[in-house]
Amino acid sequence: MSDSLMPTYGRLPVTFEKGQGAWLWDTNGKRYLDALSGIGVCGLGHAHSAVAVTLSQQGSTLIHTSNLYHIPQQQQLADELIRLSGMEQAFFTNSGAESCEAAIKIARLYGHKKGIASPAIVVAEGSFHGRTLATLSAATGNRKIQAGFEPLVQGFIRAKFDDLDELREIAKNSSDAVAILIEPIQGEGGINVPDDNYLSAVRELCDEHGWLMMLDEVQTGICRTGKWFAWQHSNIKPDVVALAKGLGNGFPVGACLAQGPAANVFQPGNHGSTFGGNPLACSVALTVLKTIEDEQLMARTEQLGKRIRENLKQAFADEAAVIDIRGKGLMIGVELDRPCGILLKDALEAGLLISVQADKTIRLLPPFILSDEEADELVTRLTSVITTFLATEQTS
Ligand code: PLP
Repeated sequence: MSDSLMPTYGRLPVTFEKGQGAWLWDTNGKRYLDALSGIGVCGLGHAHSAVAVTLSQQGSTLIHTSNLYHIPQQQQLADELIRLSGMEQAFFTNSGAESCEAAIKIARLYGHKKGIASPAIVVAEGSFHGRTLATLSAATGNRKIQAGFEPLVQGFIRAKFDDLDELREIAKNSSDAVAILIEPIQGEGGINVPDDNYLSAVRELCDEHGWLMMLDEVQTGICRTGKWFAWQHSNIKPDVVALAKGLGNGFPVGACLAQGPAANVFQPGNHGSTFGGNPLACSVALTVLKTIEDEQLMARTEQLGKRIRENLKQAFADEAAVIDIRGKGLMIGVELDRPCGILLKDALEAGLLISVQADKTIRLLPPFILSDEEADELVTRLTSVITTFLATEQTS
């Protein structure tokens, strides 16, 4: 490989050439079942015809103008996201990190408007919000993403994820806290699913203390957990939401949604993006949302998630080394009792794409369009990869 690329990624030894549905083909013609969907991006699978048609039609009509002008597709996408979420306003970005940055900026402006000179945002241990300076400073899941980039951005207070007592302590002791930013289920941190009451308790705490409740739904949003947004499993609504990944099925588009005290915090000149919300990005996102709705993929995602989790539980019922199988919808974690990063390569050889998070948890984020047979094939391949790994470990 040439060294003309900055060596930021440790890549697996494979190059993909084409995709269709849940499958990818490498340059040697070998076929892989994609149980990762480009890290939670291609929920509709690869080469979805509706997305391809929109790309082609909008691409040959108008790709980009500028946010100096009105963009009807942006207005339409905002209206759709607001209909689906119950939020009030949208700002469009190009990535998850940018959506979280927008949330962080809203929280700071909100704090300053309340007369707080150094507003702080409560963030959770084990979290991930992106690679920009503010988002990597906010995240605490992986020290590697911060190392060497000091000085970090100030103004974050860390708390354990899913620990209400610690949040209450912070609320009691910090007069600078103005918001909390958390993932409803931590993705990069290892598919950490909080207690069922966690989000509603956080909502109450935010109401009590005038904090903005900000949810990073970059990985959990857009049908991934079997609802449009993961907070919809609880009976609450956040004030700010960050979205990206699944919104464009691979076309870069993200959004920051706001409502209530977070609406109208940004005023002209406060924030912006050259590409954010261009006609092509918004047309693709509109097609993605329409396809999820038309093909009733939310119910399907819920059903497929249950099927995969139950089959995995059955397969590993007598295997003590598999200590937990968890998740919601098609956001699934299989936790082993030992580091298992090597499984990435083993799975690749077995024609299966997965990731390993927090050293010991296999993460599955398969597309919503899986057939039952493909879901079963995923379980068969993964079971075989894990079983072989555990057997080899025991004999070595
Ligand atoms: N937030 C969460 C929860 C994520 O999982 C990610 C990416 O994995 C991000 C933010 C950053 O998104 P991006 O890589 O599009 O900047």
